[in-house]
Amino acid sequence: MLKIGLTGGIGSGKTTVANVFRHLGVPVYEADAEARWLQEHDAELISAMHDLLGDGVFDVYGKPLRHIIAKVVFSDKKLLAGLNAIVHPAVRKHFAGWCARHADHAYIVKEAAILFETGGQAGLDGVVLVTAPEEVRMQRVMKRDGAGREEVLRRMENQWPEEKKRSLADFQITNDDTHLVLPQVIALHEQLLSKT
Ligand code: ATP
Repeated sequence: MLKIGLTGGIGSGKTTVANVFRHLGVPVYEADAEARWLQEHDAELISAMHDLLGDGVFDVYGKPLRHIIAKVVFSDKKLLAGLNAIVHPAVRKHFAGWCARHADHAYIVKEAAILFETGGQAGLDGVVLVTAPEEVRMQRVMKRDGAGREEVLRRMENQWPEEKKRSLADFQITNDDTHLVLPQVIALHEQLLSKT
């Protein structure tokens, strides 16, 4: 079974492309959503978060308060690195178990907003990059989230520019307003099936 990463900047259309793969019967692992779920349900991870961040970031039931954790770690680089150092291995372990459960498929897709930035391509057989011009991405996110230009720019600044990711990607899907996405995903699907 091949493990294929799917990434792209904010508003590029990763989730849209991931949904096409789903319709084609390909299992999709949403790394960001799974990471959030694990931080609320994985006892071992919660205990490590407790050791790192203390009592103040949990509610009375011991559930992590995500908005407080975000505030704390984004103002302290050391804590952010510490949190990543415990969350990433937990996600890797969970992903390995998930892959084992889907081993009867020709390939699976792992969707992650930030992949190359964290070395997340390790262990994958290839990475698909979804691209769109920055202004197109900006307009989509402003419309989707009702966000202002400044806020979207701030979110973009935490991600690598597209040119840098393009040089590392194995496959590319152009999701601007001129190229049709569906034929590109179907062609890629057939290409991946032919590799297995
Ligand atoms: P994020 O990183 O913020 O989660 P994303 O890369 O997953 O973004 P999507 O949520 O798939 O991007 O797309 C962003 C918005 O743009 C959505 O509202 C989606 O419906 C819209 N969109 C995606 N592709 C296109 C397209 N080809 N034409 C028009 N709108 C599109």
